[in-house]
Amino acid sequence: NPQIVWLRRDLRMKDQPALHAAAEAGPIVPVYVLDDERPKQEGADRCFGGAHRWWLHQSLQSLSKSFGARNGSLVLRRGDSVSVLASIADDTGAEAVHANRHYEPWWREAEEELKEALPDGCELVLHDGNYLMPPGTATTGSGDPYKIYTPFSKAMLDLFPPRDELPEPETISQPSDMPESDDLSEWDLLPTKPDWAGGFREFWQVGEDAAWDRLDWWKDHIDDYEDDRNLPSEDGSSKMSPHLHWGEISPVSIWHAFKDKRSQGWKTYEKELIWRDYAQNIIMQFPRYPSESYRDYDENKLWRHPERGHLIAEDLERWQKGMTGYPIVDAGMRQLWQTGWMHNRVRMITASFLIKHLLIDWRHGELWFWDCLVDGDYASNGTNWQWVAGTGVDSNMFPRIMAPLSQSEKFNAADYIRQYVPELAELSDEDIHDPPDEKRGDYPEKIISHKEARQRALDAYNDMKDS
Ligand code: FAD
Repeated sequence: NPQIVWLRRDLRMKDQPALHAAAEAGPIVPVYVLDDERPKQEGADRCFGGAHRWWLHQSLQSLSKSFGARNGSLVLRRGDSVSVLASIADDTGAEAVHANRHYEPWWREAEEELKEALPDGCELVLHDGNYLMPPGTATTGSGDPYKIYTPFSKAMLDLFPPRDELPEPETISQPSDMPESDDLSEWDLLPTKPDWAGGFREFWQVGEDAAWDRLDWWKDHIDDYEDDRNLPSEDGSSKMSPHLHWGEISPVSIWHAFKDKRSQGWKTYEKELIWRDYAQNIIMQFPRYPSESYRDYDENKLWRHPERGHLIAEDLERWQKGMTGYPIVDAGMRQLWQTGWMHNRVRMITASFLIKHLLIDWRHGELWFWDCLVDGDYASNGTNWQWVAGTGVDSNMFPRIMAPLSQSEKFNAADYIRQYVPELAELSDEDIHDPPDEKRGDYPEKIISHKEARQRALDAYNDMKDS
């Protein structure tokens, strides 16, 4: 009997537990539903942003081709996931819907609703496909999931190896009367006027094959990771984040590709992959974490607010557009806009700048990243923003205020700035991190001096604590 495979952020053939199980059990009906309604349960802002849509288009195109190359086809539908799947199950007489678990609250709810909505004789079978270990596996001595990264990471390393990697299905058999599919190009996922995606096209190759090509490249570079990962001017990190986010490759496949490596580079990289699992463990416990501060203190006293006469809109816009007058911050924000990605160290610097130098509520930044990142991930983005803000489960980072100018020098960001802030390209390595007034040209003045911003942030923090 037909087996439906419900695809979400797992757009691949290799090491795809849901697809693998379905293909073993019978002819398959792989379905992707473009669902703009479900994420709205978390607020309209959780629908796909423009960068998400751009990536999704290419990724679905590539997956459709992979099915086509195996004489199969992928069914594309638009609408409410639960009703679409229930009706396909009804029409095809499917025996099961197979899906890899996702932990965004709207997906967990959809999974529960789908169990009820499927016709009699058709069951929902959930698999663990997208993380090194199913969230909730690593627990404290008392059986609770971890809240803090370091003990979580240690427990994960003790539990390793992760599960075995699954082969891709050798053949794909499908029912003779497959359900109809939408035409991807009619979904209008790509920008037209203006076409802002030129930088994206230059920067990325999308899809499962591209993810494996990048992994091959990474095999030759991972040993330098320890030294290069903090240097924004170098191509020193894997840039696997969008491939992982969309499930074009699984972290289990990456782990098995490197498991025999002993270099420090791999050990550090493995811990970064564990951060990704950690973020899922956090939203599994606290589904609203990406929009609600965990720490219980009166944040209204901390952030500048329009209601209290603070004009944050202009500052926020200067940050978003990369016009703060701090070259490393502006380079990062412009890289984000042009390519849909930002270097990790620079994500920390720009986030810290918004939160501490501009004293703007971290949620504004979280949503901007969500909208602009091709790897914008409910769990990873939310967890990292709360970590920088000091509002989360970790020890409070708020009083640790990063100095953007010295970070820029320390991590040698001169070429990175030249690339993304071309109006400073002619400046010397010495001047470019903090251009003197007479060499700024059209480049904006600093939005606020570091000294003043630092003091303002610490004062606000102390006032809040004392109140
Ligand atoms: P590498 O250094 O090669 O790391 C390998 C992989 O490990 C990454 O692809 C990613 O999947 C994972 N990873 C690395 N660091 C982290 C981390 N701190 N938290 C969770 N996973 C991690 N990452 C996202 O995938 N999506 C996001 O929306 C996101 N938002 C962020 C927001 C802020 C404010 C900060 C500081 C970090 C954010 N990160 C996010 C984490 C990190 O910046 C990116 O994963 C990383 O820059 C991606 O580049 P890479 O693939 O070259 O990473």
